[in-house]
Amino acid sequence: MWFRRDLRLRDNPALLEACADGAVLPLFVLDPRLWGPAGPTRRAYLAASLRSLDAALRGLGAPGLQVGEGDPVRRVPLAARAAGAERVHVAADFGPYGRERDAAVEQALAADGVELVRTGSPYAVPPGTVTSGSGDHYRVFTPFHRVWAQQDRPAPQDAPAHADWLALDEGTVGLPEVDPPDGLELPAAGEDATAERWRAFLDQGIDDYDEQRDLPGTDGTSRMSVHLKWGEVHPRQLLGDLARRRSTGAATYRKELAWREFYADVLWRQPRTAREYYKTQYARLDYDEPGALFEAWQEGRTGFPVVDAGMRQLRSVGWMHNRVRMITASFLVKDLHVEWQHGARHFLHWLSDGDLASNNHGWQWVAGSGTDPSPFFRVFNPTGQGRRFDPEGAYVRRWVAELADPERVPDPHEPSGEVRAAVGYPEPIVDHAAERREALARWERIR
Ligand SMILES: Cc1cc2nc3c(=O)[nH]c(=O)nc-3n(C[C@H](O)[C@H](O)[C@H](O)COP(=O)(O)OP(=O)(O)OC[C@H]3O[C@@H](n4cnc5c(N)ncnc54)[C@H](O)[C@@H]3O)c2cc1C
Repeated sequence: MWFRRDLRLRDNPALLEACADGAVLPLFVLDPRLWGPAGPTRRAYLAASLRSLDAALRGLGAPGLQVGEGDPVRRVPLAARAAGAERVHVAADFGPYGRERDAAVEQALAADGVELVRTGSPYAVPPGTVTSGSGDHYRVFTPFHRVWAQQDRPAPQDAPAHADWLALDEGTVGLPEVDPPDGLELPAAGEDATAERWRAFLDQGIDDYDEQRDLPGTDGTSRMSVHLKWGEVHPRQLLGDLARRRSTGAATYRKELAWREFYADVLWRQPRTAREYYKTQYARLDYDEPGALFEAWQEGRTGFPVVDAGMRQLRSVGWMHNRVRMITASFLVKDLHVEWQHGARHFLHWLSDGDLASNNHGWQWVAGSGTDPSPFFRVFNPTGQGRRFDPEGAYVRRWVAELADPERVPDPHEPSGEVRAAVGYPEPIVDHAAERREALARWERIR
């Protein structure tokens, strides 16, 4: 069983297949092509999640997770040979790199007479499944969602009850040890911690989700993204629990899960959109090179409180609230005129839930070049967004230390010049109204 983005024992169809197929070698391969660019947050989180999976496997009587390092095209066949395996079981990967890698591993295994068996995927409805009546795929979310919601989903299954486990005598490197970067707080990793967080959200958050999810100053969202990213929970399990709920909150939550599946579908059908413009004409828009203003954005020093709060939250906890992801992304593309790819790369570097499909299509949605039919001229006003979605200023005060004190900073969304000087918070680095006009003028030129 080659684990990748399915670091759990419960409801893991590929693992069940492997256990039904004979003795099982539980393998993870640290692939330099993924590990290298992963960024400190994702590496630290993955290391913690692997530790948790290792402990859970030991709980089932296995000798622990066998960790190899190197190109999977070499590593996986070596492990299969050492174990005398006839089959290697995996959950299918639908990302651009994962697909190519798996095809190459499949070929290398076949040379040894070993079969690569794909069972399940990280999605409730695998990419490529949802099609229109004419067999075409959907380019916008609403009709995709309608068909997606009607797909059959198998019921979640338990962890394997028993299995014979194998270990490698050589070629393993042990579990990676990675500390989070200085001061960065990551959520507890692993299947059990995920289940606990989900239970708490079901008990306390789901029914109000509809009203709370857009307010970054509250703990109103599930924080499942990092766990879904690593497959510590499968969306099928979440949907199974939601099926028993009738609230608007539960309905909205289901729809959010569908966004994740929509973007995976779009990326699977058009892998080039991981880096290139979904709407190709946007490549002709006039952009600025990232320079000092881009650095101010990265470091949360733009002088726009909600933007800075988001960028500092990202660096502090490896996560950012969805509303603020939209505000900070819009600010980079439409106020600083920097191409979305630069921002997407920065997000992927720091996010623990960094996912190519959701991130890069989230960015394209905001940049106006993605699947969203609304045009480029929807430009977020960062101050107005802050006032609207963080009315008490709780979010800004939490993440921008200079603005935390209500006595010194009565209006955290628009502190006066005097207040800024007194608390050491920067002046706005741009004039939003002027940059909005500039963005629209550039857009007019490619329209
Ligand atoms: C610019 C930008 C970048 C983003 N990058 C990522 C990313 O790298 N990884 C990632 O998982 N999500 C990303 N998102 C989507 C969204 O912001 C996060 O999924 C969400 O904030 C995670 O927090 P949560 O689990 O508490 O969300 P909840 O509100 O509790 O939502 C539940 C789940 O639904 C899914 N979901 C919710 N909103 C979206 C969405 N807009 N698109 C896709 N899936 C969604 C996620 O799996 C999430 O865990 C991005 C959005 C934007 C605008």
